[in-house]
Parts: sequence; C-alpha cells; structure tokens
Amino acid sequence: MADRPMADPPPGLSGLSTAELTTWFEARGEPAYRARQVVTALWSGGTSTHAGDLTTLPRPLAAALDEAFRWTTVADEAVIASDGGQTEKTLHRLSDGAAIESVLMRYPATSGRRARHTLCISSQAGCAVGCPFCATGELGFERDLTTAEILDQVRSAIGRLHPGERLTNIVFMGMGEPLLNLDRVLESVAALNDSDRLGLGARHITVSTSGVVPGIRRLTALGPQFTLAISIHAGRDALRDVLVPLNRRWPVAEVAAAARDHARKTGRRVSYEVTMIGGVNDTDADADALANLLRGDLAHVNLIPMNPVAHTPWNASPMPVIERFASRIRAAGIPVTIRRNRGVEIGAACGQLAAERAGAPAAPAVAWRRQRLEAASARALRGERSDEPVPAGVEA
Ligand code: SAH
Ligand code: SF4
Repeated sequence: MADRPMADPPPGLSGLSTAELTTWFEARGEPAYRARQVVTALWSGGTSTHAGDLTTLPRPLAAALDEAFRWTTVADEAVIASDGGQTEKTLHRLSDGAAIESVLMRYPATSGRRARHTLCISSQAGCAVGCPFCATGELGFERDLTTAEILDQVRSAIGRLHPGERLTNIVFMGMGEPLLNLDRVLESVAALNDSDRLGLGARHITVSTSGVVPGIRRLTALGPQFTLAISIHAGRDALRDVLVPLNRRWPVAEVAAAARDHARKTGRRVSYEVTMIGGVNDTDADADALANLLRGDLAHVNLIPMNPVAHTPWNASPMPVIERFASRIRAAGIPVTIRRNRGVEIGAACGQLAAERAGAPAAPAVAWRRQRLEAASARALRGERSDEPVPAGVEA
C-alpha cells in the first residue's frame, strides 16, 4: 500500500495576531477578551503545555483551541550549558524533523550596566548562502521557519529563565538568513514589540544579514524596526565572494551603499560584523579596505574571533592580530569592539550543534572541501575574483 502523505500539523498559536485570535473566538460566540487571555498565557513563561491547562478557559473551548492550533511548535530536544551556566544552547526539533538552535546568553550586571539576557534565534532551518566558515552554511538550506517557530524559540527561553531574569535583547543571529524570510521575521518582530507579548523595544532587537540588498532596501522603506547588522567579513570582493557567496550577486559596495542609506534614512547606526579568520581576512590590507568602505558612515564594527568549525582549514585570528585590525579601523574614526566568543565549547556559533546531529560528511568529502577552501582563499588573497556561481535560492 502506498504511504499516505502525513497531514500538516495544526498551525502554532504564537503565529496568530491578537486580531486573528479574536476573530476565531468571535466565530464561536466568545468575547474578544479570550484572545488576550490566551496571549497572556502563551507569553507568561508558565508550564502550560496546551490550552487545556488554562483554568481561565471553559473546557470545551480549550479543547476546540487545542484541536485547531498547537500550543508550541518547538520540542526542546537538548539544552546544553557552558561558561558556568551563563550560556545555554537549545536544540529545538520541529514537527517535520528539522532541527534549529537558539542560544541564551546571560551577562551579569556590572558597576555601570544592568544585567542583560540576550537570546540568539534562528529564522530558517539551514541556510542557502553557504558561508564556508559557518556550520549552518555547510548544512545547506532546508526551509523557512514559520512565525510561530521563530517566536516559540523565544517562549521556550522565557520558560527557562531563573526567577528575576527577563529577556532584554533578541538577536536574529542563529541559523538562517533572516532577510530571505523577511515577511515572517517582520511578523515576529511585531510580536516581540507587542506589550501583551514580549514588549521589547526595537532598539533591543537586532537582525543580522549577510547582505541581501533588496531586503535591506525594503527595511529602509519601512523605517526603523530593529538594529540592522551586516555580516561584512571582508571589504574586498575577491575575498567576500569566497567568505559570503551571495557577494557574487550583491557585491560589497552595493551592500555598504544600501546599509549607508538605511543608516541615513532611519538615523540608526548599522553594526558590521567581521568573523576574524587567521591569515584569511585579518591582514592590514583587509582592515584598510573595510575602513575605506565605511569611513564617514553611521557605523559600528564588531570583530568576532571565528569559532572553530570542524570542516574548514581555518581558525580564529590570534588576539594581537585582532587588536591591530581594530586599531586600524578606529584610526579611520569608526567605532569598533572586539566581541568575546560565548559558548565555544558547546559550539554556540550558528548551526554547529544541528550540524553535529546531522552526522559528519565522509572523510574524503571533508578533505576535498578543506582543499577547495584553501585554494579559494589563496586566490582571493591574490585579488582574483571567484568564478563560482551565485548560490541557488538567494534570489527568493
Ligand atoms: N545569516 C545571517 C544571520 C545568522 S549568522 C548572517 O550571516 O548575518 C550570525 C552571525 O554568526 C554572522 O555574522 C555569521 O557570520 C556568524 N558566524 C557564523 N559562523 C561563525 C563562526 N564559525 N564563528 C564566528 N562567527 C560565525
Ligand atoms: Fe547563512 Fe549567516 Fe551562516 Fe552565512 S553566516 S551561511 S548567511 S547563517
């Protein structure tokens, strides 16, 4: 007998707006305040696992809600702590078997600053961009996440916070390219802003992109929604073609121009991220190329030592090299910070845990990949552009 296709699971409740939930209740002759009751319960961090747990809802109504929607769309398969419990990575399993990750980072209060709790979330399962230093890039693209799947990572983290803690920052720096799933990312950000849900201000939300220019332009037209971070990694096309393959579609000057325009029109500083890879993108010439690209812009540069990923020939730049790079950027009048890596031992860089669970590729494939990367970065250092194609799927 032929396999019957599995029915799609019901949609996740967190993906519904309050207006949509209200319509659902009203269609059943229920008052609008029921929607608010459900939203409050969803975002309370409580231990409910389905609507039937809510004492505020009449039983038959809760049963109907549980039949129509899922209370959560993520099953937390593993929670792994590092940095003495300050960093916590969660592997979430989705209904179709896809695995995604989120990372909770606790920053204790210092004399000048309150405690912060930052959650890094995923926007896609896998990623089509294929940056070679990134474990998610190596996995390839699986699918876009739904709005509920994005938001349920946040609800899962709220449920794991200790008493007195609250999420102060959300960064879309987990798996996936958020600007290739922009509608759902925007819906999620609106929910995170909503005072009935997380109530987090746009200033406390950061979305990181590898440089999808049409997405950046669309955001500029919408006005400030969140802090925009650009994963720049190299100011020269030859090297950026290798490190961020969609550079072959949108070259670095176009990315910087779109980001500059965004900063001017929104009045908000753009962050530029550089994953520092020893002997690859950390030379004086690279620092100067980046400084020239960003000189005079409303910009901030973050230098992040590369987290070692199994299947590359590369490692983090040594700290003195990173400091020297930083001083050249600073000398051009551009603010720069060096970010310490969190959770290195649990593979907290994007996609590392999911990649491990997916199983290692065969040894010859890994060796071949390393060789190709070494050759490609050597060519790039000589200034030769790559003739590799634009990755499939980045045009969506
Ligand atoms: N796709 C988006 C957002 C997710 S990646 C983007 O690329 O911006 C979030 C950040 O993690 C990016 O700046 C990315 O370059 C960085 N990253 C990926 N792999 C890394 C690694 N092995 N070490 C350090 N940073 C890494
Ligand atoms: Fe995708 Fe970002 Fe990883 Fe590049 S760094 S492969 S864009 S998730």
